[in-house]
Amino acid sequence: MLGALIGVCTLFGLAVGSFLNVVIYRVPRNESIVSPRSKCPACDAPIKGRDNIPVVSWLLLKGRCRNCQSPISPRYVYVELAGGGLFAGAAARLGFRWYLPAVLVLLAGLLALACIDFEHLLLPKKVVYLTLALVGVLLILAAAETGEWHNLLVAGISSVAWFVVFFLMNLASPRILGFGDVRLALVLGLGLGWFGWRYVVLGFFAANLIGAIIGITLIALNKIRRDQPIPYGVFLAVGTAFAIFAGPELVSSITRIH
Ligand SMILES: [Zn+2]
Repeated sequence: MLGALIGVCTLFGLAVGSFLNVVIYRVPRNESIVSPRSKCPACDAPIKGRDNIPVVSWLLLKGRCRNCQSPISPRYVYVELAGGGLFAGAAARLGFRWYLPAVLVLLAGLLALACIDFEHLLLPKKVVYLTLALVGVLLILAAAETGEWHNLLVAGISSVAWFVVFFLMNLASPRILGFGDVRLALVLGLGLGWFGWRYVVLGFFAANLIGAIIGITLIALNKIRRDQPIPYGVFLAVGTAFAIFAGPELVSSITRIH
């Protein structure tokens, strides 16, 4: 049964990844995500349904537009694969849980936000608030179904607490931590807080450790300048995913020491 859940979530994740490609491209450009239909950026030919199957179409077309043969960026495929991989991983990790849909929405929102932040150094309000609202509603439904109101309470408190911490960090150094990250803190606190406050702390430390390692490496390799702005949202997203996937073992081993 778990295999079926993982299979369904993988296919769903690939399709969501395909939709996220539209969000990632259009939202920072202030374009509607509903219309017009997707078209080739080189020749404007509309992309037909049969050429819009995640991963498969790109492989069949050998990464080129059917109409004009211009290359289509493999980035679209990476986002689809990331969607499929994250959803499969969450299903395998969490199994049949009422909060699984909330975690899937959280991961999808973070994937879109990480890609947009990486490219534009921007965390669009629309995407942040939509993710926050959907995760919130799905967690309320999960709590109503299972009676895990305590988890929901910790999630709500973590959301506000992390927002306050980031708000103060933004006041202290607005150049490093933008207000987009402050809004994002609401989402991360809510999503991770459901699992417990230790997950919130773990996600925060993981994000900064990963960010510091990558930042120092890139500066050492002269790939970036020391004063270059960093897409902090990317690391927050990665840290949050890390806490969800690696959290159970790490949190229980830390708790055992103390
Ligand atoms: Zn074309």
